[in-house]
Amino acid sequence: MAEHVTHGVGLRPASLNDRRAYLRVRPRRGRERGAACDRRHEHAGGPARTSDHLLDHASASGIPFPSAGRGTVRGMSSHGADVAEEEGAVAPGAEWDSELYRMSTRQFDRASSLLALDQEFCVRLRDPRRSLVVNFPVRMDDGRTASFTGYRVQHTLTMGPTKGGFRYAPDVSLGECAALAMWMTWKCALLGLPYGGAKGGVRCTPAALGDGERERMTRRYAAELIPIVGPDQDIPAPDMATGEREMAWFMDTYSQQVGYSVPGVVTGKPLVLGGTAGRREATGLGVVYVLEAVCERIDLPLREARIAIQGFGNVGGVAARELDAIGARVVAISGADGGVVSAGGLDIAALDLWVAEHGSLAGYPDAEHVGPADVLEVPCEVVIPAAVSRQITADNAARLDCRLVIEAANGPTTTEAEEILLKRGIPVIPDVLANAGGVTVSYFEWVQDQQRYSWDALDIQERLRRQMRSAFGRVTDAVDRLGVDWRMAALSVAIERVAEAARLRGIYP
Ligand code: NAD
Repeated sequence: MAEHVTHGVGLRPASLNDRRAYLRVRPRRGRERGAACDRRHEHAGGPARTSDHLLDHASASGIPFPSAGRGTVRGMSSHGADVAEEEGAVAPGAEWDSELYRMSTRQFDRASSLLALDQEFCVRLRDPRRSLVVNFPVRMDDGRTASFTGYRVQHTLTMGPTKGGFRYAPDVSLGECAALAMWMTWKCALLGLPYGGAKGGVRCTPAALGDGERERMTRRYAAELIPIVGPDQDIPAPDMATGEREMAWFMDTYSQQVGYSVPGVVTGKPLVLGGTAGRREATGLGVVYVLEAVCERIDLPLREARIAIQGFGNVGGVAARELDAIGARVVAISGADGGVVSAGGLDIAALDLWVAEHGSLAGYPDAEHVGPADVLEVPCEVVIPAAVSRQITADNAARLDCRLVIEAANGPTTTEAEEILLKRGIPVIPDVLANAGGVTVSYFEWVQDQQRYSWDALDIQERLRRQMRSAFGRVTDAVDRLGVDWRMAALSVAIERVAEAARLRGIYP
């Protein structure tokens, strides 16, 4: 019945848990199939008791909210059925509503309009296919029991198993995971990987967790996810504040449950447990490979370029080291609590040593200190946001002083900011292309796990470069063919591929 539903732990269809939202559903007669999704804009009629952002979602999903009687909301669910609801009804898609989810769906709507995507695929690809929300207890070091909320969202099951990281952060939410899962779908499709997108996380303050607490939380989260993960189902990987250690615990927990070792259940594992050479560096390296290709195209000599990077974690750190190694000048870099700037170029090796010793960039002697977002506004050729989402916004976009932005983080540029940048002639190389190196090497790891055979570091780097270059080629072809910006070009290529797979598979039953 309900295709996009939020499941409880037992994975029962949400319709059983939340019948109210689907009460009085009648089949819609005379529904026109084959109409492009931008038909949705033709719906007249105003809102009847719902908030603007839900209306955004509703109208963009092809869900009319015509004026209805007082106290009711009428609309058509994205399942193609008329819905008439009492006051307080849940608008379709409300489960995932969040700033980031609105951003990802707006991008999808723009790209699907551009492609004149058939309404069927707008409905099938817009909302996540499966979501799991879990609350679970963890024994803390002081003897107390804390309750944590964890999520896993699988955006599409059409392309194969789903794939995507899980993160630990205080603002992890269902809506954030839904947006990130959708982007993972496009990323995998763009790179030609046999996966749909997924994302997960646990809402927590990772820095406040002791090692034992972190391990117990990770193991319990893994145990809660067992019904929906597996090497042929959904394969998690590292994301913010998770890494090899968490992947090892996750893999061990899953393996203990099934009774034998299953290295392929996660990627980003330590080498000795079936990890791959080059996974830790993959995302940052991939960013640099794409940047090299962009620079060739726009005639910007990378070796003479000044680079500003927000984020000095896995991705930002690797990108900084690699760019430094090839002779580019990293003039600014920041962590969560502040950044450092030096117009003559920062000594990345010295910064690494400083952070290893002091835990952050604070107090580093040979640079000017600025706030974490200020590095984005430092004069340079290339800005690399490599930290968290929504950092380049309508507030600071006009102050960026660069020739291009390349998104190493997921969703760092808001829709409004991107419009400003494009008007200013600053291209934005989108996350779905720029940071796809991580999932690409994760794919290599999964293939090696399945084959029980390992490739060496050079082999991995060579394959990664080739795969990133060919995705880059597909995007530039679309830029030239469609005359659109880089994000729309990348999304168009990806969405077309997934829609074609969905068309060929049809709808079950
Ligand atoms: P990480 O936890 O290793 O590093 C994050 C960095 O960002 C840290 O230096 C942190 O101090 C900094 N930071 C956090 N909040 C900040 C703020 N408000 N301002 C400035 N800096 C801030 O995470 P990571 O793995 O490097 O991931 C960074 C980004 O890249 C995330 O958006 C993630 O989703 C994305 N990404 C990561 C991978 C991967 O393989 N790790 C793959 C694709 C995309």
